[in-house]
Amino acid sequence: MIHRKPIFPNVIEMNYQAGQRIGCNVYLVFDGSEWLLIDIGYEETVDEIVDLIRQLDFPLAQCKKLVATHADVDHVQGLAKIASVVKAEVVGHRLAAEALAAGDKIKTFAEIDAQDIHLDMPQVQFDTLLDEGDLIRLGGLELEVWYTPGHTDSQLSFRMGNLLFSADNIYRDGCVGAIDAHHGSDIQAFIKSLRRIRSSDVEWLLPSHGPIFRKDDDLLDRAISRLEGYLHMADFGTCAIDWPLMDEWDKELASGKMPK
Ligand SMILES: [Zn+2]
Repeated sequence: MIHRKPIFPNVIEMNYQAGQRIGCNVYLVFDGSEWLLIDIGYEETVDEIVDLIRQLDFPLAQCKKLVATHADVDHVQGLAKIASVVKAEVVGHRLAAEALAAGDKIKTFAEIDAQDIHLDMPQVQFDTLLDEGDLIRLGGLELEVWYTPGHTDSQLSFRMGNLLFSADNIYRDGCVGAIDAHHGSDIQAFIKSLRRIRSSDVEWLLPSHGPIFRKDDDLLDRAISRLEGYLHMADFGTCAIDWPLMDEWDKELASGKMPK
């Protein structure tokens, strides 16, 4: 048995627990002997994480839920494997369930042919779907489900008291989860999700990558205004809503303005 290093009461994070980076953040929320996991990461690290959980003295049979924040391969490639080991209920948003039931490699980022990225995305069936306003109960704990799309169309966050398991909404350096048309990114929805986090009274953000950090309204404001800019930039392709330069050019062409 090894010493548990909870970050907050009832919350262990596997990278912090191991003292080294294993992969995406894997949160183990527990009350007494009951526990659940938020995300699991890649298949190749499942054994290491299960081993860690055993050494932390959490009975595998007491795992109540395996929660997917969203359907990206780096968060859920190992979901089918861990579900076969701990036999807990697999839960997440309907759109994540659809992508994972189909083993959709494009939407999950498992297949990026142009970059020669070809990862497995084992299919997995969800047992229960979660949506905005649902409550996950674990012992005496309650996690409130927030639907926070933007990075992907299936992304959920979970509020527990003053903590928000904030998935890929924002990281400590102000970066946000990748914006990519193929996995259903929507910049307007993303802004709305960030505004919601900004206006909430949660005190800590527990992201799915990198360090846990205190909610910082200036950081959120900067990210929101950056994304507001993205809406009108060609850089973001079909995720942008318009490109003002084209309107300007229409006028210049109509007025006969030539380059000079
Ligand atoms: Zn993601």
